[in-house]
Amino acid sequence: MAFEFVKEQVEQRKQQQLFRQRRCQSSAQGRLIEIDKQGFVNFSSNDYLGLSHHAKVIEAWKNGAERYGVGSGGSPLVTGFQQAHYELEETLCDWQGREGALLFNSGFSANQSVIKALLSKNDLLIQDKLNHASLMEAGVLCNAHFTRFKHNSMPQLAKKLASQNSDNCLVITEGVFSMDGDQAPLRSISDLCKRHKAWLMVDDAHGVGCLGYHGAGSLNHQGLSSDDVQIQMITFGKALGVSGAAILCSQELKDYLINFDKSYVYSTAMPAAQACAISEAIKVLQTEPELQQNLESNIALFKHLAKESGVALTDSNTAIQPIIVGEAEKALLMAQSLQNMGFWVSAIRPPTVPVNTARLRVTISSHHQEQDIVGLIKAISELNKDNYDHR
Ligand SMILES: *Cc1c(COP(=O)(O)O)cnc(C)c1O
Repeated sequence: MAFEFVKEQVEQRKQQQLFRQRRCQSSAQGRLIEIDKQGFVNFSSNDYLGLSHHAKVIEAWKNGAERYGVGSGGSPLVTGFQQAHYELEETLCDWQGREGALLFNSGFSANQSVIKALLSKNDLLIQDKLNHASLMEAGVLCNAHFTRFKHNSMPQLAKKLASQNSDNCLVITEGVFSMDGDQAPLRSISDLCKRHKAWLMVDDAHGVGCLGYHGAGSLNHQGLSSDDVQIQMITFGKALGVSGAAILCSQELKDYLINFDKSYVYSTAMPAAQACAISEAIKVLQTEPELQQNLESNIALFKHLAKESGVALTDSNTAIQPIIVGEAEKALLMAQSLQNMGFWVSAIRPPTVPVNTARLRVTISSHHQEQDIVGLIKAISELNKDNYDHR
């Protein structure tokens, strides 16, 4: 029988408590969500600032659709590059202090694009071990030599850089790590890269909107400029509340990608209306700094209450606050119990995270109210009193 592994792998996932299923939401994205007719306080979303339902962003999308229609009609080299796309690129360059910005339909495809377009046989790709699956997969699939360094370990990165003799070397890390919420020491990484003539790329999917002046992101937050990091990837589907992504780089690299990057050239451009919504979301970051401030005070409240109640957290200072529980089954049971108490928190299990580090991935948003956070911490500390290990 052909493709027998399909059935086998699904069975195996089920047996290991690692089988994944989608849950259909009947409500809008927001502080409260409705799933299977039950309401929950949402502690799972990456919509850290509530921009996915911000009135101005919705209005911008509507106006964009009125003006441009709902689809771009083609790839960027055909009909898919309109005034709204151009304006968003200009806005991104101004905001991030970059020469070039290029739009993609997703962070996943932007990451894969850069790796595939830049690296070939005699090149070296070095990545942090905890980088996102889109980066890891492209690393495995590309023709370059691919090696990983222990999460945030500067000695290991230094060693790998010192011993390389590739034609071109690209180092990739994340600004804020998606499953842990901790940050990369970007200054040290950038210094090492400069010393060894490697390029540095930073995936800032979870930093942009949340960190730095007016949400400019991790580079701004850590005091780095475009001279320190050659390639920056930001996504619009997280704190910006919309969808899509951009690569920020030099004009030269931008021109190269427009000419040689297949996923840019051969994919229908994002709708212009979406570009309008993203531009508006960036404007909101600049005009409503209280969203970012609320997020910061909610994170501080969560951490303070957790400490008071003896709920063990990691040292993350960002909106991503994992509670490491270990076994996948235990994480699932805890998430289920929290659902019964009205809180939607995702259990993150291997292979998304390393074996024995299954976790509840709590995400905090600017729209959470004090009572939400107080309630969640109370619920988690009650669960900790039950000993889930012995069920
Ligand atoms: C979500 C995410 C991506 C993918 O971005 P999408 O726009 O959702 O495809 C890439 N990198 C990191 C670190 C992410 O968290």
